[in-house]
Amino acid sequence: MPGKINIAIDGPAASGKSTTARLVARALNYIYIDTGAMYRAVTLAVLRAGIDPADENAVENIASGVQIRVQLISGSQHTFLDGEDVSGNLRQPEINRIISIISAFGGVRRLMVLQQQELARPGGVVMDGRDIGTVVLPEAELKVFMLAGVEERARRRMAELQANGIEMSLKDVVAEIENRDRIDSSRDVAPLKPAPEARLLDTTEMSIEEQVRQILHWAKQIIG
Ligand code: C5P
Repeated sequence: MPGKINIAIDGPAASGKSTTARLVARALNYIYIDTGAMYRAVTLAVLRAGIDPADENAVENIASGVQIRVQLISGSQHTFLDGEDVSGNLRQPEINRIISIISAFGGVRRLMVLQQQELARPGGVVMDGRDIGTVVLPEAELKVFMLAGVEERARRRMAELQANGIEMSLKDVVAEIENRDRIDSSRDVAPLKPAPEARLLDTTEMSIEEQVRQILHWAKQIIG
C-alpha cells in the first residue's frame, strides 16, 4: 500500500482546479500547491520591472534574479516575491493579460519546474497547473485533467473577480480565458494537454462537492 501519493491536477483557465485541489488536499491532509501563483509572481516581477513581456532574454533575467517562494500559512498558500508576501496581488487583470506570454518561455519554466519538483519530493502533495501530469510530476500516482465549457468557466471567474472587487464584463472574461488557453495549449514548451493516463473530469455541470468527491474516490482507489 503506497503511503502518501502525489496528485496532479491540470486543466484550462478557471476550470475549478484550485478550489477543488485545495479541498482534496484538506480531506487527505496533504499539501496543496498552486503552481499558477508562481507564474503569477514572476509576471508581477516583470510588470514591476517595466520591461517588455515579449522580450524573452529580459524576462528570463528577471525570473532568474528574483526569489519566488511558496509557504503554507494556516492551511492556505502564500506566495512570496523576494521575501514580500504578494498573494493578494496576483489576480489583477494586468497579470492575466500577459502571463501566458511569460510562462511560454523555457527559461522561466525550468526555474519553476525545479522548485515544484522539490516541493513534491516528500509526497502527499496535490499540485495544480497546466503541465503537472506531463512535465512536473510525470510519476504522480493520480493525474486528473479538469475541463469545463468556456461560458461556465467565465461565470466562475467573474464571481471570483467580483469577490475581489474587480469588475469585468462576461465578454471580456471569456476573451481573456480563450486567449490564455490558446497560448497555453499551443506553446512549444510544456503545452497544456492531458497526460496520456490522466482521468478526464468535465466539471461543467458538477458542483465543487461532486468534483472533490470524484477525485477523492480515485485517490482512495490508489491509496487503498
Ligand atoms: O492556474 P492559473 O490560472 O493561476 O495560471 C495562470 C497562468 O500561468 C496560466 O494561464 C499559464 O499561462 C501559467 N501556468 C503555466 N503552468 C502552470 C501553471 C500556470 O504555464 N503549471
